[in-house]
Amino acid sequence: MKNLKINNRFTNELPADTNETNEVRQVSNAVFSFVNPTTPSSPKLIHASEEVAKLVGITEDEIHSESFLNVFSGKEVLPHTRPYAICYAGHQFGNWAGQLGDGRAINLTEVEHDDAFFTLQLKGAGKTPYSRTADGLAVLRSSVREYLCAEAMHYLGVPTTRSLSLMLSGDQVLRDILYNGNPAYEKGAIVCRVAPSFIRFGSFEMLTARNELKNLKQFVEYNIKYYFPEIKGEPKEQYLQFFQKVVDTTREMIVHWQRVGFVHGVMNTDNMSIHGITIDYGPYGWLENYDPNWTPNTTDSQNRRYRFGNQPQIAQWNLYQLANAIYPLINEAEPLEKILASFITDYDSDYKTMFLNKLGLFTSTESDSKLIADLEATLQLSETDMTLFFRNLSKVKKEDSANKALEIIQDAFYLPEEITGEILDFWTKWFTIYIERLNAENLSDESRSQKMNLVNPKYVLRNYMSQLAIDTADQGDYSLINELYLLLQKPYDEQPEFEKWFAKRPDWARSKVGCSMLSCSS
Ligand code: AMP
Ligand code: MG
Repeated sequence: MKNLKINNRFTNELPADTNETNEVRQVSNAVFSFVNPTTPSSPKLIHASEEVAKLVGITEDEIHSESFLNVFSGKEVLPHTRPYAICYAGHQFGNWAGQLGDGRAINLTEVEHDDAFFTLQLKGAGKTPYSRTADGLAVLRSSVREYLCAEAMHYLGVPTTRSLSLMLSGDQVLRDILYNGNPAYEKGAIVCRVAPSFIRFGSFEMLTARNELKNLKQFVEYNIKYYFPEIKGEPKEQYLQFFQKVVDTTREMIVHWQRVGFVHGVMNTDNMSIHGITIDYGPYGWLENYDPNWTPNTTDSQNRRYRFGNQPQIAQWNLYQLANAIYPLINEAEPLEKILASFITDYDSDYKTMFLNKLGLFTSTESDSKLIADLEATLQLSETDMTLFFRNLSKVKKEDSANKALEIIQDAFYLPEEITGEILDFWTKWFTIYIERLNAENLSDESRSQKMNLVNPKYVLRNYMSQLAIDTADQGDYSLINELYLLLQKPYDEQPEFEKWFAKRPDWARSKVGCSMLSCSS
């Protein structure tokens, strides 16, 4: 891979752990530890993204080279690089969890290409000092889910880490999927992901918890210098601007999640990127029937902390933890509190604009908040598929009656026989007002429909679609991974050849493990 331009800013400039073994331990006075990936027994490439390869400086031919296979499975370390695991802490499900760190992620190197910088990171390449009691490995099931979803999100326009490659390790990994005492062997896999960096809120929390304020200052300044170079001014002013940037990008990311119906599932502070990109695809899921209370994560089924409708509040809570972490550099609560408070007001305003755009409304009137709230409530009266509803809504015309509009979106109902009586009345009332509202906008049906189709995807990675791809991949057939990869590269296009994926969740998937229920076991 002759064009890979290695430029390790992170390990060159930040304090390293002096212990270089893989022994599990509490680390101090360092933001990372040097580690070596575990050698996989017989790696095999399942899929690689040509686009991501190109982004980092790898050619199409090189993807099929032995060197690519070896480097991105962890078998070989690139010359002039030293892989490392980052030390971070975190709040998990609202509780302080202390040191966590890259337990099964290993950063290979940073590269520079076309004036952009990327970190290449393996997930599932073996133990690190942060593996705690686990094995540092990942199974095929969760790797397929991460690989496909990150790319699907990118093409949907949602800020995210990218996926470069998906490989089998050739080794078996023991997992108890449902944590019910039934462990079984599964195929091991390794994903190489790509991002500007994999720095999480938890890194800042770690330094503050250990009271390493000099390291904290150096780390914040490192982040500003490389990731927010536009920030200028007095040190304190810079730290506040840095916080404001993270708040802004995080807010933008959450608005996108709510737009496409993505539920992260594990919004712990160690899974929050400093770049406001979606990171760590674990037990995530996609809303099928619109339900703000839904969470795919069985580990969280009691409290539903990370349910769809709670994601903005949790993002703010996580940002509050980041504010606490950098507070010792600022020593003034008020400016941080002000930025935190603005998160929800700014979010509400962005959410409203986003939702109106989904409805094909590009101006805003006073009654629009009610129009949105009424729709959110009506969508929940009887199971209604979010993706089908919004995509088909673009076919409603100004001259249509409420009845006609209902006919247009009827495919979105999981139980059409329920759309009678009061429920039908609610729908008729909502559509009557909606159509009036369309008529007040100065936009032709055709232009509106085109604009709506740019924000309402036709294809998302429904939970059952990943599961089908996993089941076939487990049999050694990767055609479905290839098909979904192609499909999801153009989520807003009609793609009639893929029409079968523009459909409600099939009945068999309603409560199947992997489709609507996922645990953290991966
Ligand atoms: P997650 O919930 O996947 O974000 O992981 C939380 C923490 O557990 C992180 O520090 C991970 O690195 C670690 N972890 C998760 N799975 C494993 C594993 N199989 N081996 C080692 N560490 C893991
Ligand atoms: Mg994580």
